[in-house]
Amino acid sequence: MTGWIVAPDAGRVEEVSCGHLDQAPDEEPPAPVRGCEECLAAGGTWVHLRKCLICGHVGCCDSSPGRHAWAHADTTDHALARSFEKGEAWAWCYQDSLFLLPEPT
Ligand SMILES: [Zn+2]
Ligand SMILES: [Zn+2]
Ligand SMILES: [Zn+2]
Repeated sequence: MTGWIVAPDAGRVEEVSCGHLDQAPDEEPPAPVRGCEECLAAGGTWVHLRKCLICGHVGCCDSSPGRHAWAHADTTDHALARSFEKGEAWAWCYQDSLFLLPEPT
C-alpha cells in the first residue's frame, strides 16, 4: 500500500489539501516501460521521468523538451505523478501544484 500526503513544507501558510489523493490505487500500477513512452516512440530524449500514480504511464518531466508527464496529466485528468528516478520518493499533484510525500508508516 502506497499512501501519499501533502508535504508539510509545501510552501503555503494555510492548510492545504489535495482532493486527488484517493484517485491513486492502493497498489501502485507497474510501469510498462523504463522510459518516456512518447519520447521512445518519437525518438526524443528526456531529462527526468515521472510516473502516473493512477495508471502507471511514464512520461518526461517539465525540464524535458516533450513535457509528456504534464501532457498526460492534462489530457487524462490523472493529477498525480511520482518521481520515477532511483532513490526519489516524492510525488506531485498537477492540478493543485502540490508537493506530496509518502505517508509515514
Ligand atoms: Zn490534487
Ligand atoms: Zn517525453
Ligand atoms: Zn495516468
